[in-house]
Amino acid sequence: MAQKGNIGVTTENIFPVIKKFLYSDHEIFIREIVSNAVDATQKLKTLAGKGEFKGELGDLTVSVSIDKEAGTITVSDRGIGMTADEIGKYINQIAFSGANDFLDKYKDDANAIIGHFGLGFYSSFMVSKRVDIITKSYQDGAVAQKWSCDGSPEFTLEDTEKEGRGTDIVMHIDDDCKEFLEKDKMEQLLRKYCHFLPIPVAFGKKTEWKDGKQVDTEEDNIINDVEPLWTKKPADLKDEDYKEFYRKLYPMSDEPLFWIHLNVDYPFNLTGILYFPKIKNNLDLQHNKIQLYCNQVFVTDNVEGIVPEFLMLLHGVIDSPDIPLNVSRSYLQSDQNVKKISGYITKKVSDRLQGIFKQDRPDFEKKWDDIKIFIHYGMLSQDDFYDKAKSYALLKDVDGKYYTYEEYQTLIKENQTNKDGQLVYLYAQDPESQYTYIQAAKDKGYNVILMDGQLDTPLISMLERKLEKTTFTRVDADVIDRLIQKEETKREPLEAERSDRLTNIFNSQMPRTGKLDFHVEAQALGEDALPVMLTQSEYMRRMKEMAHIQPGMSFYGEMPDMYTLVLNTDAPLIKKVLEESEAETAEKLRPIEAEIKGLTARQSVLRQEQDKKKAEEITQEEKDDLKKCGDDIQAQRNKKDEILAEYAKDNERVHQLIDLSLLQNGMLRGEALTRFVKRSVELIK
Ligand code: ADP
Repeated sequence: MAQKGNIGVTTENIFPVIKKFLYSDHEIFIREIVSNAVDATQKLKTLAGKGEFKGELGDLTVSVSIDKEAGTITVSDRGIGMTADEIGKYINQIAFSGANDFLDKYKDDANAIIGHFGLGFYSSFMVSKRVDIITKSYQDGAVAQKWSCDGSPEFTLEDTEKEGRGTDIVMHIDDDCKEFLEKDKMEQLLRKYCHFLPIPVAFGKKTEWKDGKQVDTEEDNIINDVEPLWTKKPADLKDEDYKEFYRKLYPMSDEPLFWIHLNVDYPFNLTGILYFPKIKNNLDLQHNKIQLYCNQVFVTDNVEGIVPEFLMLLHGVIDSPDIPLNVSRSYLQSDQNVKKISGYITKKVSDRLQGIFKQDRPDFEKKWDDIKIFIHYGMLSQDDFYDKAKSYALLKDVDGKYYTYEEYQTLIKENQTNKDGQLVYLYAQDPESQYTYIQAAKDKGYNVILMDGQLDTPLISMLERKLEKTTFTRVDADVIDRLIQKEETKREPLEAERSDRLTNIFNSQMPRTGKLDFHVEAQALGEDALPVMLTQSEYMRRMKEMAHIQPGMSFYGEMPDMYTLVLNTDAPLIKKVLEESEAETAEKLRPIEAEIKGLTARQSVLRQEQDKKKAEEITQEEKDDLKKCGDDIQAQRNKKDEILAEYAKDNERVHQLIDLSLLQNGMLRGEALTRFVKRSVELIK
């Protein structure tokens, strides 16, 4: 019986709308059409199982084929098929109310629209100028039907001839969508969207090399794995099975560190396998490596909102019919079920980590360097994860020993508590370049941990907040005596005048570039300590490091790196520099120093006189006098500095000491390094 009619939509014509709004995602038509074919096949299997279908099931493979000449893609199944009535009910009546509003709201989210309206089948119109359905119901005596629609709301439906039961969907591809008629393109899409569908899907035939070219064989080219690993029982699987599945999912990746098989059916349904990947570098940190499936149909590789952010760095698959796919992302995040799912995944991951830690600590330690990025990310982004992970998160010292937070506290409590009762964690970020400082700390009986991970800077800040009375200090943040300040016998400092002279001599010869800023300080550090040492203030350095990872702190990022050159006034070499400079500049400085002395005396007299008067009684002349006196002192001081600088300019010992301190920190490069080498050669001649 032939029919003509209008598809029941309230909007004048939905097809332009579908095309327009769903344009960006239009490749998903193939997922929709193939999964409909799979559904129809599974329904038939169910009926057969219940005895309601008694015929031969036969080969149930769904097939996808391309006819380039005719410009068609055909998806055929041997499932339940449809009667004319069913076409009327399931295809013609599209519940479509408030369509414009809705489309407006979700115009960027094709999944939302398609799911919401059961538009699955109609997504074929995104790429087709006409779609034919040729179908024959499994029911006895069914007459085959041909439904055809050219993208207007009008369709035709008529009786037709069809050999076996099932449905062929014939899509006459639009001129601007010809790419879908390419074999390679289609194969790629099928592998993406249909890779794990539960019914075999054939796309052409397998090919082989024969007489120098690729020819088709008799065998179907099945593009899917109908029983993916996550659908199997964990008890039946071996490590090799998981590794093999991982290779299938990510052929280019290294072997995973370990994995977690997820399997719940209450209060929601979820299966899946999450892998901890081996991360080689930053570039590997991708957020879209987890694939989300709904009953083995690929949905998306954007699991944002479903999986907690820190776990998005994991790889693997999640399959759940309970994740509402047809809603927007923001709605998704507030969905109670989704929240539960996210919580469940976090708990599973944490339990697994804890399990490995407890059962096989050496193995856990072996993996620690590779997994710490996930754990740290989790601890930083989720308080509840921190609470779980703090018992198994590890600290590694520069000798490669691992400690839990608690173990470490016990280890350093005795020796690394400062006079204010703060526990000081000493750390290094680069054991090579910080070697001297580490050594100095070890000599004091301190332990130094390694903090060279990508997230260690924020981690340090967090631990300082979470652990009581705890400070982290990098080993080169100060000279050893001040790294962990304790009440100790004070060493004799240099008198101010000599200390100034010494710092001025060195200061005048420090390198000046925009990116580095040096401050010189004289300290009595004991005879055994090195004569010079470069330190970098913990605070400024950390602010700068934070500036790289945190927006809104760029002010710090712009600042130069600030270092302090500490001169050890107890070291014989420094004493020598000081004494020699005093001897050699004495003559030139004598008149200047006398001048400064005179001026300073005069300045204090003037000050005393003016202090006695009320502000309004001081004459302009008197004010000018005092000011001039100050200016003159400054001028003389500048002169003195110039003489010292002039002296220091040619002093090889000063340069050698400065260069050694820079060298020790890997900061001596280029021309300065060459000069240093030449000078050193001269010195040992
Ligand atoms: P959904 O699959 O979400 O229900 P669709 O628009 O994709 O929405 O399909 C509507 C209905 O058409 C299906 O529920 C099914 O009853 C019927 N249908 C679609 N494709 C087939 C097919 N290949 N074989 C049998 N019935 C089909």
